[in-house]
Amino acid sequence: MKRYVFLLCLLAAGGTAQTFTPTNPASQAARRWRQQHERAIVDEFVSLLTIPNIAADRANIQRNAEAIAGMMEKRGITAKLVSVPGGNPIVFGEIKTPGATRTIVFYAHYDGQPLDPKEWVTPPFTPTLRDKTIERDGQVIQLPAEGTKFNPEWRLYARGSADDKAPIIAMLAAVDAIRAAGLKTKSNIKFAFEGEEEAGSPNLEKTLAANKALFSGDLWLMCDGPVHQTRRQLIAFGARGAIRVDVTVYGPRGELHSGHYGNWAPNPALALARLLVSMKDETGRVLVEHFYDDVDPLSDTEKRALAEAPDIDADLMREFWLGSTDGGGKKLTELITLPSLNIRGMASSRIGAQASNVIPASASVTMDIRLVKGMDPRTTAERVIEHIRKQGFFVVDQEPTSEMRMSHAKVARVTISGAEAAIRTPMDLPISQEVIRVVESARGPAVKLPNMGGGLPLTSVERPLGTRTIVIPLGNHDNNQHSYNENLRLQNLWDGIELMAALMTM
Ligand SMILES: [Zn+2]
Repeated sequence: MKRYVFLLCLLAAGGTAQTFTPTNPASQAARRWRQQHERAIVDEFVSLLTIPNIAADRANIQRNAEAIAGMMEKRGITAKLVSVPGGNPIVFGEIKTPGATRTIVFYAHYDGQPLDPKEWVTPPFTPTLRDKTIERDGQVIQLPAEGTKFNPEWRLYARGSADDKAPIIAMLAAVDAIRAAGLKTKSNIKFAFEGEEEAGSPNLEKTLAANKALFSGDLWLMCDGPVHQTRRQLIAFGARGAIRVDVTVYGPRGELHSGHYGNWAPNPALALARLLVSMKDETGRVLVEHFYDDVDPLSDTEKRALAEAPDIDADLMREFWLGSTDGGGKKLTELITLPSLNIRGMASSRIGAQASNVIPASASVTMDIRLVKGMDPRTTAERVIEHIRKQGFFVVDQEPTSEMRMSHAKVARVTISGAEAAIRTPMDLPISQEVIRVVESARGPAVKLPNMGGGLPLTSVERPLGTRTIVIPLGNHDNNQHSYNENLRLQNLWDGIELMAALMTM
């Protein structure tokens, strides 16, 4: 998502909020309530953002978790901290609804990406309000007095403001608004706020598996990430999985003089280039045999949703200085529903001023494969290894011995790591259709994607609990998440409160 943070100028320049009038009664109540309590909502947000939230900072993580539990208890919501040894606590909360036949779990994370304070214009844990973005020369402003209206285009700068403390504030404000309006929840509501998502959710699955009954639910709404670049609400029904593939191919034992041995000693950089060229065609289609065989085809509903998604490809090309795109004319939204094979980087010997006249001894590449639903990570890895064999390589998974290198014309060392399968919740499920209806009654026509391009810890939720996940982001797309000067546009928080109120009363 980080790649999209600079889209502001292009897609939302001038940025007046196109405010949709919700048809959902809980959203309407949330709007009225918010308009009367803007300062109190922002105050609670500011006090949470003041607590540093880097996952490795155990003491402050604990303070965050206790503060959030306190915010829930203040509202009469049963709360507790749940963890496994060595893990950061998940803050759990529950609103029981008498007679409810289903449970909806609202997920967000309170930890944030590691940072270097020197890169920030104002300190990351001193929440600062600005009248515009820093990129557009926004100036620091003081919080307006109680009862004064906030400009919805103002930005609140702090680590975690967008990713991902805003949903926590939106959910709790929605609870207040629902209650103040005398509205009732129909489902049991649970909250699960993770404290180490940005560290790769190392204990999420273990913690859920050890506390299945506590965290069980019919649906997990994963409230994380930014809304669509057009500022329409995004609903993503899954995420891609990933495998990392490292390949090294070998030349002579050590670097050789290119004058004395050129034309005779095979060059590993060229061998690696040939291998990589064999893996994809000119349009970017992967040529590894059977690579696409197990891809779960999109349903008609999913295809229709893609066709209806706004076409922002031309804008993105200008933003990223691209003169062409891969995919044979397909749009980005469709291409991210397909698996990809990407070169993260490659290296052989030295270049430029550091270059010497040698035949390199080896050449290496790190690749990632993004998986979609239906693809088994291990099977996919085996297919890639088989492809490398078919190009004439003797494949090993450790540093090859001298004997191996002498007895085979071409040797490749291949290691596979980080295998994570993809998840996609069918859009046709009654619960999916209901979520779409409810979201659109709060926020207007939504952009619906079968899956996001990147990863999210969805398998860590679905595997232990046997539940379903749907991703409902709140943040502005130009929020600088994961980078310095992270910020939240206030209108996104206001929209989030109305959205959460609708989802909590479904
Ligand atoms: Zn996040």
